[in-house]
Amino acid sequence: MTTTSTDPYAARLAETLPLVRERIAGAERAAGREEGAVRLVAVTKSHPPEAVEAALAAGLVDLGENRVSELASKVERFGRTDVRWHMIGHIQSRKAKDAAAVADLIHSVESAKLAGRLARVGAERGQPVEILAQVNTSGEASKSGFSLDSAADEIESMAELDGLRINGLMTMAPFVDDEVVLGKAFRALRLLSERLRASGRVGPELSMGMTNDMEVAIREGSTMVRIGTALLGPRETAR
Ligand SMILES: *Cc1c(COP(=O)(O)O)cnc(C)c1O
Repeated sequence: MTTTSTDPYAARLAETLPLVRERIAGAERAAGREEGAVRLVAVTKSHPPEAVEAALAAGLVDLGENRVSELASKVERFGRTDVRWHMIGHIQSRKAKDAAAVADLIHSVESAKLAGRLARVGAERGQPVEILAQVNTSGEASKSGFSLDSAADEIESMAELDGLRINGLMTMAPFVDDEVVLGKAFRALRLLSERLRASGRVGPELSMGMTNDMEVAIREGSTMVRIGTALLGPRETAR
């Protein structure tokens, strides 16, 4: 499993990773935030195992996938000791147990039903499932997550469950370039987080920012950006 410059993923990452790291560092500086405050999650979804291999060789340790089956097969191949696996996509309730078995952090807990299933898994195994609650900060019908109206109540109820540890919140902004619209979505997540953290049962993580909006997300307090395209190029299938 050697990686050479003839591997297109390794060659691409040699170019893109320094640029992405500089975008993150630049945004941290511009926001007056500490260097290294934002964790880079490399989204390898729908890319083959060679992409994971190249990402690990390049020093990336946080990898994101959006389908339980694809995550499970990559975990089987690459293990869990050198990688922190992030589940960032929709999870059907019947796949909750499978997801909990392979993900180190589940970003996409978008319903009380899924939270309940995951909590049961965590309670049964005697080790809480590490999650983020996904919030629909834009109100777009196409986006998953708790609505801003009900999120605080729903997440406070989730925090009562044994078997879950709520590390923080996650959101996806609308797919637009308008920084005012993006900033509004990310700020809504941060304000919700500040409110929930007062209870002491919801952690400080804010998973927000993708290829097209990471600077705005970092300005608004992101602690984790989920970056696919800027690192690995376009995906073959739109997901
Ligand atoms: C695919 C995906 C990303 C990565 O998006 P890019 O625009 O390719 O950086 C981030 N978050 C979620 C939830 C995704 O599904």
